[in-house]
Amino acid sequence: MCGIVGYVGAQDAAPILLEGLGRLEYRGYDSAGLAVASRGALKIRKVSGRVADLAADLPARFKGSPGIGHTRWATHGEPSVENAHPHTDMSGRIAVVHNGIIENADELRAKLAAEGVQFASQTDTEIVAHLIAAAYAAGAGDLEQAVRQALRQVVGAYGLAVIDAERPDRIVVARNGSPVLLGIGEKEMFVASDVAALVGHTRQVVYLDDGELATLTAGGYRTFTIDDHATAKSPSTIDWDVVGAEIGDHAHYLVKEIEEQPRTLERTLRGRLDERFQTAHLGGLNLSIREAREFRRVKILGCGSAAYAGELGAQLIEDLARVPAGAEAASEFRYRNPVVEPDTLYVAVSQSGETVDTLAAVQELQRKGGRVIGVVNVVGSTIARQCDGGIYIHAGPEMSVAATKSFTSTLAAFALLALHLGRIRDLSPTEGRRIIDGLNALPAQIAEILDEERRTGAIAEVAAELAQRRSVLFVGRRRGWPVAREGAQKLKEVSYVHAEAYPSAELKHGPLALVSPELPTVAVVPDDDLLDKNTSTLAEIRARRGPVVALAHRELPADLADRTLVIPRNEPELDPILLSVPLQLLAYHAALALGRDVDRPRNLAKSVTVE
Ligand code: GLU
Repeated sequence: MCGIVGYVGAQDAAPILLEGLGRLEYRGYDSAGLAVASRGALKIRKVSGRVADLAADLPARFKGSPGIGHTRWATHGEPSVENAHPHTDMSGRIAVVHNGIIENADELRAKLAAEGVQFASQTDTEIVAHLIAAAYAAGAGDLEQAVRQALRQVVGAYGLAVIDAERPDRIVVARNGSPVLLGIGEKEMFVASDVAALVGHTRQVVYLDDGELATLTAGGYRTFTIDDHATAKSPSTIDWDVVGAEIGDHAHYLVKEIEEQPRTLERTLRGRLDERFQTAHLGGLNLSIREAREFRRVKILGCGSAAYAGELGAQLIEDLARVPAGAEAASEFRYRNPVVEPDTLYVAVSQSGETVDTLAAVQELQRKGGRVIGVVNVVGSTIARQCDGGIYIHAGPEMSVAATKSFTSTLAAFALLALHLGRIRDLSPTEGRRIIDGLNALPAQIAEILDEERRTGAIAEVAAELAQRRSVLFVGRRRGWPVAREGAQKLKEVSYVHAEAYPSAELKHGPLALVSPELPTVAVVPDDDLLDKNTSTLAEIRARRGPVVALAHRELPADLADRTLVIPRNEPELDPILLSVPLQLLAYHAALALGRDVDRPRNLAKSVTVE
């Protein structure tokens, strides 16, 4: 989850490592550390806290190269200075940073302890440093060989970077199930677990594949396998808008990313709408028209917000293409021995493209012959490369842990997919035109919602009120139901106020028992053919004196809602995109009112690369 940065070249590594670690902070972490090689020895500093604390802790003269740095998200052993990475062998010659989990850690630890190794931490990572030292002791001739021998004994997932005080010209890195990418500079090389760490240094990167290792020196890199067979790699160019990763004048990334949505939606749609034939062009799908027409079902998989976006995607596909479609949490799907059908199109959704449960579901599907496309934000990420084709949502770097712009851009990507699948089936040109007009109108309508809030502060006011409550209920029906789920998720993850979402009609099957003046309900009530049904739900809540905040297309009568947030109307299929935005703002303002760490909610990580 967490992050790795490394540098080898003529500059001092520490400032580059600190900057890179700062750029990885958004991923969530609990401690940080770095090591640099200097005159045949390693200098190491670690803190149980923030990267800023690490920077403050560093002596003025902390010179040396190469260096490796890490932000840790504890899996083995509590967050503490001892458990922070880098970890070393007993002589202090080898330093290792690691993302992931070593599954046979107990067994290896017992074996090493029996050989006399004394451990300085409770982590699984430290084992790797001792294994490398043991490989040297057993005769390994160079760092590469020692790392290869060590990794032969390791079972589990890792992204690793290793330096050796006695080989201060290189970093050796390895990847198995946790991302590692090399950044190519001018007479210098970088390594990172996330492209964000390389911003400002290079745009030329090489993505390692699982089972690959690499040696980085100032002059270049070499990639090879655990059996020392050289592998051939070609560099890719990062096409990310660098400015997208900067916070600018905003107080938090979360609000910056909410406010960016008019632009990010434009980016998702750019060049993909075909006004002439009223359809969408999606070049990366790798599906011929014939293949795309033959699918009988669509199944969408994702985790968290990506799963809720998938539920809305499934409705879009059913509505526009009339192909049966459903969504499921990838984390559940992968473990239930799913029946994989050749006439189903599978879609994996992941902002980071590294979500381990989604990746495992993709691999399981492919093993069984399933055709999987990805809906992914991060270009070149593992899921994007693993899938048979897909749609990049082009939302730009999303730094805040809570998904916002990636959520709305994912919905827009599904609208494009649904339009494409619809127009090669039964969707008429007139209907295609209606959806295209709706999509084109979205950016300005989101800007309208944001302007209105700047003017009135109505959502912030509601948020301040909800932040005082112990719990909030979110309800919606059909398309409003995943919107309600995502709204509840947003509120709980950034403000820690308990929130629960229910399909409106399910209220009376249980949760209505909770409704009282103490439990407010946020209701998604678009002005569609289900309006009457939705207003009956509100009446049921009001009859129990439950406070109601409604998201609607026009002011609701006071007997149905204490407060209506009026949202611009688009086409019914696309309204969820607009209805999601006020719920993002609601969560943001509730978190602010409660003084939460808005961009880095406790216990969470941006990209969930461990199970
Ligand atoms: N398993 C390692 C630890 O607990 C690495 C965790 C991480 O990915 O940061 O230290």
